[in-house]
Amino acid sequence: MARELPPIDYTKINLCGVMPFRDAPTLAGKYYLNYPFTCIDCGSRQIWTGAQQKWWHEELGAVWERIAIRCRECRRKERARRDEARKDYQEGMLRKKQGKQV
Ligand SMILES: [Zn+2]
Repeated sequence: MARELPPIDYTKINLCGVMPFRDAPTLAGKYYLNYPFTCIDCGSRQIWTGAQQKWWHEELGAVWERIAIRCRECRRKERARRDEARKDYQEGMLRKKQGKQV
C-alpha cells in the first residue's frame, strides 16, 4: 500500500520559505499520504488522494499549507457562489458609476 503513494518532488513544491513538513498531515517523508478529511460545508467524509495532492502542489504550485477542506461537489458550489458574488460586485460598481454620472 505505502509503495503506491506518489513521491514528493521537493524541487517543485512551493515552500514559501518555510519547512514545516513534519507537521503536515498530508505528507510523510518522501510521499504524499491519502489524507482523510471532513468537508467543512456538508460534513461528508472524503479522502484526498496522494495523486491529487501531487498535482495540486507540483503542477498547480499551491503552497504546502493549502490542503483540501471541501469535497468536490462543495468546491463546485463554492466556485459558483464566488463567481456570482464577483458579478454582483461588478454590477454594483457599474450602477454606482452610472449613478455618479447622472
Ligand atoms: Zn461537501
